[in-house]
Amino acid sequence: MTFSSLGLSPKVLSAVTDAGYTTPTPIQAGAIPHALEGKDVLGIAQTGTGKTAAFVLPMITRLEKGRARARMPRTLILEPTRELAAQVEENFIKYGKNHKLNIALLIGGVSFDEQDKKLERGADVLIATPGRLLDHRERGKLLLNGVEILVIDEADRMLDMGFIPDIERICEMIPFTRQTLFFSATMPPEITKLTEKFLHAPVRIEVSKAASTATSITQRLVKSGNKPWDKRETLRRLIREEGDAIKNAIIFCNRKVEVAELFRSLIKYEFDAGALHGDMDQSARMAMLKGFRDGKLKLLVASDVAARGLDIPDVSHVFNYDVPIHSEDYVHRIGRTGRAGRSGKSFTIVTRNDAKYVDAIEKLIGQKIEWHDGDLSTVVQSEGGEDDAPRRGRGAPRRAGRRDDAERKPRGERRPRRSEAAGEAAAEAVAPAEVRAAEPRSDERRARKDAIRAENSERRAAPERAERKPAAERNERLERPRRDERGRPDRAEQNRRQREADDDGTVGFGDDVPAFMKIAGRV
Ligand code: AMP
Repeated sequence: MTFSSLGLSPKVLSAVTDAGYTTPTPIQAGAIPHALEGKDVLGIAQTGTGKTAAFVLPMITRLEKGRARARMPRTLILEPTRELAAQVEENFIKYGKNHKLNIALLIGGVSFDEQDKKLERGADVLIATPGRLLDHRERGKLLLNGVEILVIDEADRMLDMGFIPDIERICEMIPFTRQTLFFSATMPPEITKLTEKFLHAPVRIEVSKAASTATSITQRLVKSGNKPWDKRETLRRLIREEGDAIKNAIIFCNRKVEVAELFRSLIKYEFDAGALHGDMDQSARMAMLKGFRDGKLKLLVASDVAARGLDIPDVSHVFNYDVPIHSEDYVHRIGRTGRAGRSGKSFTIVTRNDAKYVDAIEKLIGQKIEWHDGDLSTVVQSEGGEDDAPRRGRGAPRRAGRRDDAERKPRGERRPRRSEAAGEAAAEAVAPAEVRAAEPRSDERRARKDAIRAENSERRAAPERAERKPAAERNERLERPRRDERGRPDRAEQNRRQREADDDGTVGFGDDVPAFMKIAGRV
């Protein structure tokens, strides 16, 4: 099958050819002809299957007729995260290069003013996260009754993030006569209910099962002691062992606090690493992602929330620094590698506490995962960490060799714990070449260290800003949902996620201080 047999317009076909694509993927072949006919589509497909083009290409073809009116977008695409929304925008720019499309991106972390201006000009394509879209609507800057095509992307992820009530509200604001294109990697009962309510006789296209892992991925479990320094040492050893075979890798952690900690540790040991987590501001996230995509950054430490659904082509390795608590996350994580038939490797670091999660994963994927170098029965526990390390200061003698450690440690950073430092020294003794291979250029390294230092001192200098955050956010909590008895995120969790997805760091009223508050008071 070729793209030209799908019914796309010549201008769109030319952009597809320029993008270098010759054969439509199964989801594209299945969805595009129906979408062009104006039918509702239910696409059950994961990221990596080409599903974005499956809705973007027919939308651009259909948008060739008609034009946008102020504050009345013609099409609306809902995405669960800012990164996904920005990715979809990139797709519209790439495939719409022969069109003059007005695209508006409504995401948190960016000022309302710019977004208002784009809406005012009239948007052909509106790409939004649910929270920010509703904010605009409540401010009276947006009318949804001109929307002809509605896309709901990554619906199961929306469910995970507690966005379903918002999606329902938005669906009710858009005319009944619209066309709806709906995509989800899995179909839990809540999602099925949503499709029954809002889709009209949809054409169902299913391209892969969420519980399957690609055969092109070599999966391994790696034993480790359960202390953080043991796990960090295990990870560093693995990275060095893989050496040049690592083109680029994502390292997944379960919690954002671990993302930040591991990132700092990797930088300290001079690996070429970046981090992606929900607390970073939008521009930092986008810059980090761009660096990784462009091959300027080799290792990306990320949480599931920050990374799920991101289109990062051709990742050679996935490291699970933590075993995912929810087994389906394992499938999503390792699905970042071994794409489009390429080979990939995944390593999952397992401690004695993780046995039940590994069992659940193996049950879900229907196969046993091999151990890399012996199972947990062969783990040698480390000598202990900081707690039993000799204290300096109050007259405690310096240990021999301590000075070397101190000299290796960048100034102003935490001293590696004893076992960590010893392990590190041993690893460096056996693999100096691999260490160098993973090193960033010194100017980049300096810039990144400066950024960490600046971030730390900013935190110290602005305690009141840190205090603004609700306790729930300040606590180092699992990113997994707290769920009610039916397995749905509870209200507090939904609110937390909404904040996390949309928190743009605005203080108080931000740019929108009501006029009466600006009137000078009389003393
Ligand atoms: P998606 O599932 O939309 O995130 O797309 C995954 C990746 O596949 C993206 O990098 C696309 O650029 C790429 N892609 C989309 N369609 C095709 C195609 N027909 N042939 C080859 N690559 C494609």
